[in-house]
Amino acid sequence: MDKLYLGSHVNMGAPDYYLGTVKAALDMGENCFMFYTGAPQNTIRKPTNLLKIDEGRALLKNSGLDESKIVIHAPYIVNLGNVTNSKTRELAISFLKEELKRVNAFHVKTLVLHPGSHVGAGIDAGIQGIIDGLNEVLKDDQSDVKIALETMAGKGSEIGAKFEELAKIINGVIKKDRVGVCLDTCHISDAGYDLSNLNKLLDEFDRVIGLDKLLVIHINDSINSRGAHKDRHANIGVGLIGFNVLVNFVHHPRLVEIPKILETPWINEKPPYAEEIKMLKSKQFDANWAYKF
Ligand code: FE
Ligand code: FE
Ligand code: ZN
Repeated sequence: MDKLYLGSHVNMGAPDYYLGTVKAALDMGENCFMFYTGAPQNTIRKPTNLLKIDEGRALLKNSGLDESKIVIHAPYIVNLGNVTNSKTRELAISFLKEELKRVNAFHVKTLVLHPGSHVGAGIDAGIQGIIDGLNEVLKDDQSDVKIALETMAGKGSEIGAKFEELAKIINGVIKKDRVGVCLDTCHISDAGYDLSNLNKLLDEFDRVIGLDKLLVIHINDSINSRGAHKDRHANIGVGLIGFNVLVNFVHHPRLVEIPKILETPWINEKPPYAEEIKMLKSKQFDANWAYKF
């Protein structure tokens, strides 16, 4: 079996918090995972000393997991690209400064962030807003946490649906070693990229951004066809990207070191990740798997 870091988004909640997150990931056969430090849709956060971080980390270590492959996702309402509403921007900046401290408290090294939306101000203004915001957020932060800007589907005024836009942002950041990219398969397909020739796609990523900047991959199928700009995730092998293309991402020799995270929809209120991971690892699609739920 080749080396492979494969996991999913996992919830964190009372009463066990991080300990519960680690347990849930292990139960689903994962050796890496992603979580939010609180609710994804708001910026209310509990103090980290209540989140059973030490207990979670002890379990991680006992289970032989590589802590450097674990990922935190920033809430998606944070928008550094909104240059017309100073309140939204200031909230995003102050939240992200605190979020970096929380990520560091978990001993996690990667924070996935949606770059932002320009909400009508135009792409260039939005990109400049994101650059200025990131520089402000990183200015006084002494940690080694990296911010992974996620590739977006391009719905509404989202920035980051083109590799070139992410490259522009990274180029404008002063502390360049602190920023990288999270590639989401559903999002780039929706953005218009052809995923069927992965080597060619990675060459393009390498030319525009640099493959060394690729920190995380989100493995999702898409309900919509290429270029739809919709961002609706489908379960593995039942969307329009298809099983074989996703297997390619999971097992590609140029991507071995990169943690791969599933964010596919739950089925009948249950996480489908144990089954999806099994199929991706074995490269065998089971057409009936969804009916087991
Ligand atoms: Fe995301
Ligand atoms: Fe994603
Ligand atoms: Zn998405």
